Amino acid sequence: MNVDIQYDRRARQYTWIEPESGEVFTFPAKAKGDAYKFAVSMLDPDLYTAAQRMIARHPQLERVAWKAVELVAGGGVENYAPPKGNVLAMVDSSDGLGRYAIQVEDGYTSCQCEHFASFAAPVTDSGSRICKHIAAYHLYLLVREERY
Ligand SMILES: [Zn+2]
Repeated sequence: MNVDIQYDRRARQYTWIEPESGEVFTFPAKAKGDAYKFAVSMLDPDLYTAAQRMIARHPQLERVAWKAVELVAGGGVENYAPPKGNVLAMVDSSDGLGRYAIQVEDGYTSCQCEHFASFAAPVTDSGSRICKHIAAYHLYLLVREERY
């Protein structure tokens, strides 16, 4: 899914054109995040809803959840089913320059990224530390896996 949001310098606003209808939507200069969320809600309602539910349950995950949406939308999650050893998935870094292994050990999920390793990533009420890569893995399972 390619979300193409353009900034119009003269009008000082963001525009997004719905690819199928060609309808043009505009957003104020400081609302690029809102433009992106709106585009995702139109293009991939399941992904949008999954992110909204994650944030409703864990408000502290709001920032990582929307970054995770970008990773899932961009095809940045490679899920291993079954896992390769203790590696559940590989997730792209947001800068596109590398990938991080999502690993599980004794039921505890970890990521190799700096945000996770530095203990800066938010923690859920049940004690799980969640970076955007782990959030992306969870969202991927919710919206991209085949359901039987
Ligand atoms: Zn991570």
